[in-house]
Amino acid sequence: MTTTRRKIQGGIFLIEELAPEEMFTPEDFTDEHLNILRTAEEFMEREVLPHVEEIEHQKEGLMPALVRKAAELGLVALEIPEKYGGLELDKICSTLVAEQIGRMPSYAVSHGGHTGIGTAPIAYFGTEDQKARYLPRLATGERLAAYALTEASSGSDALAAKTKATLSADGKHYALHGEKMWITNAAFADVFIVFAKVDGKKFTAFIVEKDFPGFGMGAEEKKMGIKGSSTRALHLDGCRVPAENVLGEVGHGHKIAFNILNFGRFNLGAYCMGGSKMAIQDAIRYAKQRQQFGQPICEFGAIQHKIAEMVIRAYAGESMVYRTAGHVDERLRGVARDNTDEILKAMEEFAIECSIIKVYGSEMSGYVVDEAVQIYGGYGYSQDYPVERYYRDARINRIFEGTNEINRLLIPGMLLKRAMKGQLPLLQATQRVFDELLSFPGEEQAGHGPLAEERGLLRAAKKAVLLTAGAASQRYRDQLADQQEILLYLADMVMDAYAAESALVRAWKLHESRGEKEAELQTAAVRVFLQDALDRMERAGKQVLAACASGDSLRTQLAALRRFLSSRRDPQTGLSGKLTPVDSIALRRQIARAAIQAERYFF
Ligand SMILES: Cc1cc2nc3c(=O)[nH]c(=O)nc-3n(C[C@H](O)[C@H](O)[C@H](O)COP(=O)(O)OP(=O)(O)OC[C@H]3O[C@@H](n4cnc5c(N)ncnc54)[C@H](O)[C@@H]3O)c2cc1C
Repeated sequence: MTTTRRKIQGGIFLIEELAPEEMFTPEDFTDEHLNILRTAEEFMEREVLPHVEEIEHQKEGLMPALVRKAAELGLVALEIPEKYGGLELDKICSTLVAEQIGRMPSYAVSHGGHTGIGTAPIAYFGTEDQKARYLPRLATGERLAAYALTEASSGSDALAAKTKATLSADGKHYALHGEKMWITNAAFADVFIVFAKVDGKKFTAFIVEKDFPGFGMGAEEKKMGIKGSSTRALHLDGCRVPAENVLGEVGHGHKIAFNILNFGRFNLGAYCMGGSKMAIQDAIRYAKQRQQFGQPICEFGAIQHKIAEMVIRAYAGESMVYRTAGHVDERLRGVARDNTDEILKAMEEFAIECSIIKVYGSEMSGYVVDEAVQIYGGYGYSQDYPVERYYRDARINRIFEGTNEINRLLIPGMLLKRAMKGQLPLLQATQRVFDELLSFPGEEQAGHGPLAEERGLLRAAKKAVLLTAGAASQRYRDQLADQQEILLYLADMVMDAYAAESALVRAWKLHESRGEKEAELQTAAVRVFLQDALDRMERAGKQVLAACASGDSLRTQLAALRRFLSSRRDPQTGLSGKLTPVDSIALRRQIARAAIQAERYFF
């Protein structure tokens, strides 16, 4: 089955159902996708993974050489126009590469620092002259890039930067004064995208070369993980930047910073997928050979539960990542690769999904590497085994590209903003849910076809999200932004809806194209994930409603929440009852057995 050409709107998943033919899934990879996947996989296996120790010790010259090697193979300029040395490939291709490089986080962060956040600002916001001057040599890796936004006193609040830019009397150059903090690739990058305030007010991006007078840097930071990546502070002591190196318009640096974050967040989610699959594979192999009480530990239910849960969470993440990449590609179908406005708009359209992928991906990978350490037992705590590094490396993912708190706050914030601007019919959908409650029609009918029951449950779950968000909006109105705990719970509910739907529609699509048997394991994963997601949503919804109402009004809302999330109507009798749980223990065992047999994440 192929995907249709409907352009999906960002955020619409909360309101409309996705049809299987509208979703891109890993089962749809084309030959072009598989070719780029193989190139990236071989690069990682030949050039990067055998040198983990040297990378971790920052062997002089190794990291830039690896990024250059990747560039020679065409792995760094995938989405850049051909006229600047790029390959003009689609988002699915760049996602496949991101997943592969994510198998070695120190490398992924350095590669992404060069491409995703270092080169992309010039590709999308540069003038023709800037693109011609910088992009070809960045595409070949002859020059490497970095991105310098953060400062010691401004991280999440990036627009509070103190670095100043002052135009010279002759208007020919700016003098930059200030310090940047935590800059990836600083040790070897040639070109830096630096943000500073012109006259201390107008937030602006500049293309700064390392040889410009007044440019300096600090020593390597001593980090918990991703030790192989270079992270340093920059010292800008009157750094002389030609006026023609202003990137975008003076005072419009925030547009660059925010847009580039969408790319970075999406890519980070894809890196997390690659890293998690690697940890799952190592953990399964170890569990198969480690004997305790006279048998391999993978035979124990406790270990099988962990393996299955790691696989299930990765499956939901993978489904979301490729679904979103597919939506972006659909939006860009027929759009020229140098039409940067349209490309930026397409990423902006899915800014909510990019934040979801960042938060879900980083927390899923945090869970996976933690369980991998547990499966290794004491050996997982030893530097002699790779999971110790996976564990340390994964921690940063919840902090950079916008902390998970900031991204969580953005998810409901962006949804509401779109609704207020009339871009998303969220208010109307919420009103329908409230009307439905008054008219008492009961729960969703199951419907027909593959996973019909699960689809009905998900439809009802989305109503629960709308109900909860609606109650919070009614209670706090324009003060809702101050109720962070409520927003965080709402974000969790929205994320679970997107994750569950992505997993579900993928399994449904497989069922329709290749039959029930082929889709059996995906269906099992969906059942377990959905059941847990509904439980989580009910818990989150309860907290929010209790903060928004009291007495009879609260009781009515809680009853509605329960009706949407934990009850169903018997199609025969028409009577409502508590939802019968699926046997998640048996389903997880089935998934674990398949993973143990395949010795890897197998979807
Ligand atoms: C290894 C590494 C590499 C990095 N690479 C780069 C790079 O290449 N370029 C670059 O520019 N930056 C880079 N960074 C910086 C990174 O993006 C920031 O660390 C991150 O944005 C968080 O900022 P902060 O560290 O100042 O934390 P803070 O913003 O001080 O946050 C501290 C805590 O407060 C919370 N918090 C902050 N504001 C709010 C709020 N409004 N509401 C609720 N909670 C809030 C945060 O979620 C967090 O839990 C890197 C950082 C590291 C560690």
